[in-house]
Amino acid sequence: MKITDIEVIHLRVPSAEKTCTWGEDAVIVKVITDSGIIGIGEADSSPSVVKACIETPNSNLYCYGLKSLLIGENPLEIERLWNKMYWASNYMGRRGAGIHAISAIDIALWDIAGKHYNVPTHTLLGGKYRDKIRAYGTFIPADRPEDNRDIARKLVEQGFTSIKFGGGVFGDDPEVDVEIVRNVREEVGDDIEVQIDLASKWGTCGHALEMCRRMEEFNLNWVEEPVLADCLTSYAKLSGKVSQKIAGGESLTTRFEFSDFLEKSHADIVQPDITRCGGITEMKKIYDMAQMHGTRLVPHGFSTGILLAASVHFLAACEHGTLMEYSQSDSPLFTDLVANRLPFEDGFVPVPDSPGLGIELNEDVIAKYRVE
Ligand SMILES: [Mg+2]
Repeated sequence: MKITDIEVIHLRVPSAEKTCTWGEDAVIVKVITDSGIIGIGEADSSPSVVKACIETPNSNLYCYGLKSLLIGENPLEIERLWNKMYWASNYMGRRGAGIHAISAIDIALWDIAGKHYNVPTHTLLGGKYRDKIRAYGTFIPADRPEDNRDIARKLVEQGFTSIKFGGGVFGDDPEVDVEIVRNVREEVGDDIEVQIDLASKWGTCGHALEMCRRMEEFNLNWVEEPVLADCLTSYAKLSGKVSQKIAGGESLTTRFEFSDFLEKSHADIVQPDITRCGGITEMKKIYDMAQMHGTRLVPHGFSTGILLAASVHFLAACEHGTLMEYSQSDSPLFTDLVANRLPFEDGFVPVPDSPGLGIELNEDVIAKYRVE
């Protein structure tokens, strides 16, 4: 079997036609083979930058576009191809968007392998430990603290036993932050896990420390990205001093950045995104490193049903892969792009057993939102 083409598809939901909560755009790849098998992947990144990383002609030894490296290659030789892409895109890649692009292709290669061997991808990853994965629901808080009661209650009514919020005004004003958390905790009661995501907005470890202490009474499960993920010293200072678990890492790529993060941040939870960190191949390495540091891996995941399926296959095959994020986006790129999107049912997402990632794309959605 040989790779004959890689199609990069940029999707954008026109804001004039439909507003949505996150999920305005997406970049997906189809890795096409001469056997008729097509692998599907995506990167949660800037679509046009990812497209350029894949399609650009090579300009020197370390600036190959990824597509030119893979045409004619055997798609089953996933790790060798990962390393080939990594090294030959080394000047414009190595971290950031270059790795996001590799992530999309890597996910598609694991999809191809599963389809070729006629087994679900989680079997190729070592075998599944579970048939369903507990999921937490994420929402962007409303500006007025009391308006968050409704949002939180509706998630619990949907079946979520674990919820998270962040973005919007959260992190801007200490008094508002505390009141939002108070309203949510009061509304959902003590039995629901509540975690908060600051998207780095608390800025300094001193402020984050003060806020974590003020929020102790609300029994938060974790505090995510209180400060920038690059500020490993701030993470380390916080981690030992607050009662909440500290989480982060959604923006990091490759085992190299995660190695640093795991070693120096002392975080309790690491959150690689499978469509950014380097794909399934790199995520396996990051998971193993996290285990060695006594750190729990709970992946970041807030894009299309492709990311969702890749995360589920990966977690199913991890001994401790017991919690994942489930998007609450109403974007058609989340709700409809994958025709058989994995559902959220009674607190859990089922692990599929069809070959590869087991997803079918809705070509009408692609045609409707494709950016040419
Ligand atoms: Mg986050």
